Amino acid sequence: MPTEERPKNFIRTFIDEDLERGRYTKVATRFPPEPNGYLHIGHAKSICLNFGLAADYGGHTNLRFDDTNPAKEEVEYVDSIMEDVRWLGFDWGGKAFYASDYFERLYECAEELIRKGFAYVCELSAEEVRAYRGTLTQPGRDSPWRNRPVDENLDQFRRMRAGEFDEGKKFLRARIDMASPNLNMRDPAIYRIKKAAHHRTGEKWLIYPMYDYAHCVSDAIEGISHSICTLEFEDHRPLYDWFLEVLDWPQPRPRQIEFARLNLEYAMMSKRKLLQLVGDNLVDGWDDPRLPTIAAIRRRGFTPSSIRLFCERIGVAKNDSWIEMGWLERAARDDLNPSVRRAMAVLDPVKVVVENIPEGEERRIEATYFPDDPGRFGARELFMTREVLIDREDFMAEPTEGFFRLVPGGEVRLRWSCYIRCVGFEAGPDGKVTLIRCLASEEPQLPAKKGRRPNIIHWVSATRSQPAVVRLYDRLFSVPRPTGDLSAELNPHSLILREHARLEPALAAAAPWDRFQFERLGYFMRDPVEGTGPGEVPVFNRIVTLKDGFAKEARKAKA
Ligand code: ATP
Ligand code: MG
Repeated sequence: MPTEERPKNFIRTFIDEDLERGRYTKVATRFPPEPNGYLHIGHAKSICLNFGLAADYGGHTNLRFDDTNPAKEEVEYVDSIMEDVRWLGFDWGGKAFYASDYFERLYECAEELIRKGFAYVCELSAEEVRAYRGTLTQPGRDSPWRNRPVDENLDQFRRMRAGEFDEGKKFLRARIDMASPNLNMRDPAIYRIKKAAHHRTGEKWLIYPMYDYAHCVSDAIEGISHSICTLEFEDHRPLYDWFLEVLDWPQPRPRQIEFARLNLEYAMMSKRKLLQLVGDNLVDGWDDPRLPTIAAIRRRGFTPSSIRLFCERIGVAKNDSWIEMGWLERAARDDLNPSVRRAMAVLDPVKVVVENIPEGEERRIEATYFPDDPGRFGARELFMTREVLIDREDFMAEPTEGFFRLVPGGEVRLRWSCYIRCVGFEAGPDGKVTLIRCLASEEPQLPAKKGRRPNIIHWVSATRSQPAVVRLYDRLFSVPRPTGDLSAELNPHSLILREHARLEPALAAAAPWDRFQFERLGYFMRDPVEGTGPGEVPVFNRIVTLKDGFAKEARKAKA
């Protein structure tokens, strides 16, 4: 039964009605990816919806590979899809289904359609088919092959199967209504000739069923109760129901329900465009953390629970909309905030010499990993030394208005350590600061300005810290609703590398997949692929910043 805290949505309302009326006694859903690419965050919405609904109603969900198109499908995709669904935390009961398992049954059903006079073999060319189809305002015309006798249709269809004809020469189509106001009902194709090897059935089949036909029959074979799909299939629903009706499929038959697909701002979800991004090396493979693929999201460091939280929060609706990236980021923060250790890293270090700490002295500091609940993760050691590193952003030689971090003559506090007051600095010929000189103290050295205590900044010891490469990600596209013109719309600064970052000593023990909040900088995860060999410098990916940069930008844009 639906849990109370889950918001009611129109799909649940449908299911509740169906159960009340006794149309179904059990809820069975399916997730039906075509194995022709990697899954993306849009698929995650569909996965969470299908698996989540079935689980709430005590039912089950089938993972079914919709592998009816041999040309584009590959085993690599099947494997990645399974990995992604599993990673998201869902279980399809051990046995994956394949539409190709039903090829024989689908073929038999097609013969049945022919015998009942609901299908015929047509020989119009693709161009002619288009011309005969008519338009939204004009009815179509009947194909000259429409009234072929049943025996001839059967014979032709069997010969299509036997490989007697070339691709495109003939196809099997439904005999419905060329004048239907719904173009999908104007004698749609059921089978076409395709002489291609299939990743599972090999060379066995030379004809392949079309999606609209294969999908409803596959759902029916598996006893699916609710076949949830995206809105573009709304106009296909009459066809979905028609096939099962003319096949006299026993009740209860599956019910198709449509919802709005996820569009995420600054991202691109079309498989074709993702393939192009990867194929043209515009990104670094399917799991490049800038992509919206699940493989990329995982590698970047998002947790499965944050993706589930995101999908639950955006909900399901019946009208298409664009979701701001901020929703995904907020879900990540809300999920990571209570669950990861705090630590310090300096991404773009500049050296500070603390002149009143003697050379060689190391003041040991015990700092908890989770100050709000010190017992949760225990503590780690930091070392205050004469030379420390701070982030370049935290010092300004000529401060601008409103800059409250370290400035000449000013003072800040080092997190977990002392106050430092800047007594001088050195800069190169280009004006770039190379060294800052400070004096340390346990208490502030300057009178408070307007009651303001010195700001706290993060730091690491220059001598007791670890090198690391840190990757900062920005949106892949520079426009909120990319159209796919990659050369114009890609954000050239979507990846910023910090190759000389330094981490506090305890992070030497961080394993791949370990996540931290680097204080003031965001949430990070140690990359599981790069920088993992012996002696290699570890790589950390920024999952998300601490603050909602997008909200800030939106406010700025409005102001
Ligand atoms: P294609 O462009 O190849 O049709 P697709 O994105 O529809 O790609 P499928 O493998 O057919 O990919 O999708 C599997 C399931 O995921 C379908 O049920 C589909 O409705 C759903 N799905 C795909 N994209 C989204 C999205 N952006 N939001 C929600 N669900 C989606
Ligand atoms: Mg699809």
